[in-house]
Amino acid sequence: MNKFGEFDLIEQYFKRPVPNSILGVGDDCALLPLTLGHKFAVSTDMLIEGRHFLPNTDPVSLGYKSLAVNLSDLAAMGAKPVGCTLALAIPEIDHDWLAGFASGFHDLSQTSKCYLIGGDTTRSLAGITISVTVIGEVRRNHALRRDNAKLGDDIWLSGDLGGAYIALQLALGNIAKDTKRYNLLKHYLEKPEPRLALGKNLVGVANSAIDISDGLLQDLGHILKSSSCGAEINLDKLPIANDIADMDKSLINEAILAGGDVYELCFTAKPRRREQIQAIAKKIGVPVHRIGTIVKGENCVVLDAQAQPVEFTQKGFDHFAI
Ligand code: ADP
Ligand code: MG
Repeated sequence: MNKFGEFDLIEQYFKRPVPNSILGVGDDCALLPLTLGHKFAVSTDMLIEGRHFLPNTDPVSLGYKSLAVNLSDLAAMGAKPVGCTLALAIPEIDHDWLAGFASGFHDLSQTSKCYLIGGDTTRSLAGITISVTVIGEVRRNHALRRDNAKLGDDIWLSGDLGGAYIALQLALGNIAKDTKRYNLLKHYLEKPEPRLALGKNLVGVANSAIDISDGLLQDLGHILKSSSCGAEINLDKLPIANDIADMDKSLINEAILAGGDVYELCFTAKPRRREQIQAIAKKIGVPVHRIGTIVKGENCVVLDAQAQPVEFTQKGFDHFAI
């Protein structure tokens, strides 16, 4: 019998049925239909063992998350998923790992209708590298971009903050072991929910949007730079994850302002959109909070409950800054 090789691996773990309009895994290229009047939204994110995930991470969660973090970028543009590709470098063929990874990936791929249409598979010299590219579509001139925040816009945020950061610090042993808390928080790390429905519904309503995967201050900073404006954020309006609210105040502030691995949307919109945004949030069942205002200037100022600026230096995650 022939040895189980690259093509058997692709066939067994990654080739899955796709809609008739798509040519998926198996040819030199995949073929996708183009919808008239739309543009493609394309984004790639890599996950590298030891940098983005810990060795021995549960493969089902990893499969889910490697697609989820990419879908979050489509959500932030208000794009609808169409398909994705997966480039995978693994040191060996480990069937248990592959089966788990593929099931996590395909489950989210099916529910989000972001079909796996191709990729590349290779042996790595050390560790696992996962690179996913997502393709979505958005009506021409209707994408939610970073460069269109306007003076006087409200700044909004979906979900809550700090959960992923504290979960990671617990996992790394940087905070005293607390298994109960870790178990309550680990879903932030393992099962972030891409806010696709929110992003889609904000098209034509929000002026700008970003997902805050590198932390609120850093990613809001990208909106400010692209849109040439400043922001005031109200610290007491930031939604803190329930299961960290009893922790040390300065740790909470660090977690909510700078903690990364958050797949929530930060978006800006005119004040006259407030009711409409609350109605959208209610309809799709995603909490949103108004956390500040777009102002003149170029910086983000964090204000405390007395409207005094809070000093804060650590901005967020930058792979080359450490
Ligand atoms: P080529 O040599 O033309 O690049 P490959 O032999 O690398 O093609 O891959 C064969 C087929 O399997 C292609 O359709 C490719 O897109 C797909 N494929 C390879 N690896 C993966 C993967 N990890 N997930 C999904 N599809 C994959
Ligand atoms: Mg190839």
